[in-house]
Amino acid sequence: MRRQLMGEFDFIARHFRPLAGRGAMELRNDGATMSLPEGGELVLSSDTMVEGLHFLPDDPPYTVAQKLLRCNLSDLAAMGSRPQHYMLNVSVPSGRHYNEDWFTRFAAGLAADQKQYDISLLGGDTTGSPSPLMLNVTILGSVRQGEALRRDGAQPGDGVWVTGSLGRAALGLQVRLGKLNGGKTSLVEAYRVPTPRIGLSLYGIVSAAMDISDGLLQDCGHIAEESGVGITLFEEELPFAPEVMAHMETHREMILLGGDDYELLMTCPVTQEAALQAHCKEHDVPLTKVGTVREGRGVAMLDKQRRPINFSRTGWQHF
Ligand SMILES: [Mg+2]
Repeated sequence: MRRQLMGEFDFIARHFRPLAGRGAMELRNDGATMSLPEGGELVLSSDTMVEGLHFLPDDPPYTVAQKLLRCNLSDLAAMGSRPQHYMLNVSVPSGRHYNEDWFTRFAAGLAADQKQYDISLLGGDTTGSPSPLMLNVTILGSVRQGEALRRDGAQPGDGVWVTGSLGRAALGLQVRLGKLNGGKTSLVEAYRVPTPRIGLSLYGIVSAAMDISDGLLQDCGHIAEESGVGITLFEEELPFAPEVMAHMETHREMILLGGDDYELLMTCPVTQEAALQAHCKEHDVPLTKVGTVREGRGVAMLDKQRRPINFSRTGWQHF
């Protein structure tokens, strides 16, 4: 940890030392250690959140912390990994509202999710910033050797499946920006606090997996490209909550392209569908088949009359 903030050591001691786990050595050394389960290999992923891009300056610090951890947890879920620890980097602009009180509440959000997901802080860095508040987490977990889920295994004939429901976070952001009349606060909650689908064991069941962060269509494009296949999605099969359906007429494209869902997107051979459904049911995770993998390239979404939908854009921009 470099000394770039006045009182950095006190700041770390107050806010982050209580979060330090086994191997962190109370954040008193140059680094940390991490042990892996026998036969396991390390899985790592990193996500940065920038004020004004991924969260709003007046979002509650407690939920900013939760979203930061949960975006990263969702990436590990997509890899089929059990999370263990994380590293945290914060770059704090001076003269703003990111003060002791803000970080006390931010650390409380981290603490709550550490408990919920059984993870702990291993280390990181704190600096000043001439620009917005920047938050970065590197999440560390493990899988059994060679059992990480990947994006490149989808085969023609496989089904395309998603967990949970879609579109709530995308609408929640619009509510926050004052661009959606009559949007429910539960949509804002979905935008601020996603539900990472960790804890499933899908190795050997699904043929490809990733999490939905940029929107169903764009993220299906990643699986299609990595697997060398095409994907067809069916609009009428997509899982939307009533609070999302209420805005379908006015915000259809935004809902269909979505973003920030942090649900799992998977392809699954027909022979494994029953196993996938049983496993998700056992873990109380809603699951919906939304499309099929085909020969070819690219992603098409068909409307209720099975005509391809033409979108004015392909993916999700956070703002
Ligand atoms: Mg991801």
